[in-house]
Amino acid sequence: MDQNLLFTLALGLVPPWMVDDVTFKVEEKRLDLHVTFPKGSRFSCAACGAECPVHDVQKKTWRHMDFFQHEAYLHARVPRVKCPEHGVHQVPVPWAREGSHFTLLFEALIMTLVRAMPVLTAARLVRETDKRLWRIIDHYVETARARVDMAAVHTVGMDETSSRRGHDYITLFVDLEARQLLFATPGKDASTFTRFATDLEAHGGSAQAITDVSMDLSPPFQKGADAYLPNAQVTFDRFHLMKLVNEAVDAVRRNEALSQPDLKKTRWVWLKNDRNLKAKLQELLQNQNLKTAQAYQYRLTFQDIFTIKNRHQGTTLLKALVGKRQG
Ligand SMILES: [Zn+2]
Repeated sequence: MDQNLLFTLALGLVPPWMVDDVTFKVEEKRLDLHVTFPKGSRFSCAACGAECPVHDVQKKTWRHMDFFQHEAYLHARVPRVKCPEHGVHQVPVPWAREGSHFTLLFEALIMTLVRAMPVLTAARLVRETDKRLWRIIDHYVETARARVDMAAVHTVGMDETSSRRGHDYITLFVDLEARQLLFATPGKDASTFTRFATDLEAHGGSAQAITDVSMDLSPPFQKGADAYLPNAQVTFDRFHLMKLVNEAVDAVRRNEALSQPDLKKTRWVWLKNDRNLKAKLQELLQNQNLKTAQAYQYRLTFQDIFTIKNRHQGTTLLKALVGKRQG
């Protein structure tokens, strides 16, 4: 088999495309594959599909996946056809998308790498700038997002998280039924809801159709939900509520530790459900007079309320618990 045919097959090219020249320079660590088509070939018009003669050609280069440790490049003269009805059109090439300097296979490799590592690391690995990689990622993410259908979204969870080593915040909106990220936006204020509602509508969803939203107790979020998700019942999520309750238990403990030295250095004993700490916890719970032990019992009751499926029953128990604490 001659080497042009070998590379034609290896690249998966189909007629009229074929490799007609291969140059391999060891000292430059580089393989160059020249792709062409026979004179007189016809290509279909992008608009109507009619087979049309070639009008002119443009020289282009794409980076392909490495050939072992050597960088590989594809070169081709890309034809433009002249359709009697639709005029002059660029012919799409089967190995790359329009406007990209990389082949589809190279882009697929990039998309696989950036799932597993930071973009900058992937860029160094393939010896490209991260800016070029971001351009590829942006393209595929935008394409995928454009196809997202949010018509069935009714239950939304949201939370903020820090980005860039904790300096900036982004807010995430999640479809709780489909367990899927819907939208991410900078900031953690009420305006995040405007942007979410806009994006939701752009994807066939409706802010009016949101019946439930789960969030932390941040006042800006509550304000945003009131203004932009008018039909949504707000639920403060268990994770954030438990965090508050745990902080309260620890506040009681720290205060009481001033007069009860036994409580010193027992923060995790009360917080963690840890086998190794259980014995110590049992020992402390023996002392019925400890306020911390009482606070801990409240926490357990509060935690149990979340396991109750009956809404009315849950409400009654929660009210009873709050009443007990105040009394
Ligand atoms: Zn045409």
